[in-house]
Amino acid sequence: MAASPKIGIGIASVSSTHRVSAASSALSPPSHLFFLTTTTTRRGSSFLLRQQPNRTRSSDSLRLRVSATSSPSSSGEIIENVVIIGSGPAGYTAAIYAARANLKPVVFEGYQMGGVPGGQLMTTTEVENFPGFPDGITGPDLMERMRKQAERWGAELYPEDVESLSVKTAPFTVQSSERKVKCHSIIYATGATAKRLRLPREEEFWSRGISACAICDGASPLFKGQVLAVVGGGDTATEEALYLTKYARHVHLLVRRDQLRASKAMQDRVINNPNITVHYNTETVDVLSNTKGQMSGILLRRLDTGEETELEAKGLFYGIGHSPNSQLLEGQVELDSSGYVLVREGTSNTSVEGVFAAGDVQVMLWNFYPSFNVGINSVKSYWFDNCVSYSPICHSRTMNGDKL
Ligand SMILES: Cc1cc2nc3c(=O)[nH]c(=O)nc-3n(C[C@H](O)[C@H](O)[C@H](O)COP(=O)(O)OP(=O)(O)OC[C@H]3O[C@@H](n4cnc5c(N)ncnc54)[C@H](O)[C@@H]3O)c2cc1C
Repeated sequence: MAASPKIGIGIASVSSTHRVSAASSALSPPSHLFFLTTTTTRRGSSFLLRQQPNRTRSSDSLRLRVSATSSPSSSGEIIENVVIIGSGPAGYTAAIYAARANLKPVVFEGYQMGGVPGGQLMTTTEVENFPGFPDGITGPDLMERMRKQAERWGAELYPEDVESLSVKTAPFTVQSSERKVKCHSIIYATGATAKRLRLPREEEFWSRGISACAICDGASPLFKGQVLAVVGGGDTATEEALYLTKYARHVHLLVRRDQLRASKAMQDRVINNPNITVHYNTETVDVLSNTKGQMSGILLRRLDTGEETELEAKGLFYGIGHSPNSQLLEGQVELDSSGYVLVREGTSNTSVEGVFAAGDVQVMLWNFYPSFNVGINSVKSYWFDNCVSYSPICHSRTMNGDKL
């Protein structure tokens, strides 16, 4: 059904700091919007009249030559609205929302640092808990769809690692392996890396018996009704062991020390569970396979006696923690003692105005649905902060809930 065209006008910030480029309503957009902005962008440092829908980078942009009295950068350098670092669920979600909000995000998807482009879900097979896929979807397929969606809305994607950044003075600087970008805001979504044991056959059995996420993979047909093992003695490992008892025939908890590090309550729950056997002073040496090449057991070594034994198990889950990929923010943004980025409660706002953290780097999550949410929140925070501070029109729309 052809809708009658509606025209909307967005007014950009004219403050000297130029933190906001444009306003739009993503939920109920007019069919054509024109934005007059004074922000210097990749497309030029003059005033820009941009017409929506705008799916290409510049072909439908009309540039107005206006003598600007308040140029964003006297040197004429290009300053982006927002740079997103990371291409996991949080990064792409932020990219989709930022692009739909007409912020023209620049996304550094990563190459080698902090995992693979597409994030942790690239290393898993079936994702069963993402709404909209009743039959499940593979991690790589899901991430490819998110990538396409971000691209479709005009996010500019670079498959590069960010090697350094400076947020001490505005505009911020982001240096990737290929380019240096100046920007007003950063959404930091670099995720966390599950710690691995680096067993000799780990790569061979990753996702085919070895997993770093019991909550994600425990219910899969590969593990249902089988004998499984969890490595670790802290809260994560005990939580995973208890969770796996829902699906497994029996669960072995492999603990290097002579005691559990988990909280007393978790210890009690594990020790009193007849479906869990705790092996203390036990080191995991490697996984074993049967003649069909399937994982069939685990080679263990007693740390007190040196004795080696084989344990029958079809699955091995690592519960030894994660490392947040927050190194680039060290010394610039407040982190907790484990390196997770501290954010203001209920927001994605970090200790530095204009820097937002989304996803697993911000807080250890049990699934990516919250990552998806904080991806959205980071853009909402961006929008809210900038709009409230710099644009009355933005502000009133935000207050009406007519946003994102
Ligand atoms: C094996 C496995 C299976 C899982 N299965 C499920 C599941 O079925 N359901 C579920 O809900 N959750 C699952 N999870 C958890 C889920 O994957 C994570 O919660 C989610 O991926 C976190 O998203 P994120 O965007 O915060 O970070 P990540 O997915 O970790 O993505 C981080 C991104 O940052 C990029 N990056 C890092 N450093 C840099 C840099 N310097 N420059 C540029 N880019 C950088 C990386 O390349 C990556 O793209 C699973 C996790 C694992 C490990």
